[in-house]
Amino acid sequence: MTVYLVGAGPGDADLLTVRAARLLGDADVVVRDRLVDASVMGYVNPHSKIIDVGKVPGTSSSQASINELLIELSQQYDTVVRLKGGDPFVFGRGGEELLALHEAGVVCDVVPGLSSALAGPLAAGIPVTHRGLSRGVTIVSARGANGDLTDFHALANPDLSLVIMMGVEHRGTIAHQLLDGGLRDTTPVAVVEQAWTGQQRTTRGVLSDLGSFSVRPPAVIVVGEVAALDLRSIGILDVALL
Ligand code: SAH
Repeated sequence: MTVYLVGAGPGDADLLTVRAARLLGDADVVVRDRLVDASVMGYVNPHSKIIDVGKVPGTSSSQASINELLIELSQQYDTVVRLKGGDPFVFGRGGEELLALHEAGVVCDVVPGLSSALAGPLAAGIPVTHRGLSRGVTIVSARGANGDLTDFHALANPDLSLVIMMGVEHRGTIAHQLLDGGLRDTTPVAVVEQAWTGQQRTTRGVLSDLGSFSVRPPAVIVVGEVAALDLRSIGILDVALL
């Protein structure tokens, strides 16, 4: 009957919205992504069917077949939860799925989640805006729909923080273009891997070294003055869950 596109947040189940947790408890079937943390599954109704449509990055296993699956399930079950990492509308293809479902006449709803774009930096003690250091934040994917690299020359702005998603494998080129675009080579950079999970790790340095950071996805790359801050370590924030 109804398909709910639900954001699972970036990692630990504690970051679910109350609405997301309630829907997981009510779900007849849950269709989940690769990036959803195992702890979140603890909220799923033990009688509900779980279907993995996890994609290995780069293979982009047919979005059309996921859309079809959701349409089919909506004809068989009352409450279908399509569970996505972070927020469904932040690089999660939630919009595409919603349009396909609408087109097929399926009733849908969307439940926001905490995006790794904002909660990821916070997990490392980085405020993406900070008076005097950053007057805003640009959130960008390293790649477009066809796999083409985003033009980072145009995104070099020392007044703004830059949060780059899906950027780990292109970090060298990204750094090169940002430097070419006018950012100082000493601009602070932080890479937050697997934020809000037991494997969380932060690597810090300066822009000219980003290409040689030893880091793995999933991770968010933060570029800008705020990336030098770690407000957790001075005890202002207590976000350490580990
Ligand atoms: N909808 C998701 C983003 C999906 S795109 C959201 O709002 O968070 C996948 C990218 O998100 C990854 O390549 C990585 O850049 C980022 N990401 C997702 N989960 C993450 C996590 N726990 N820690 C760091 N980055 C994460």
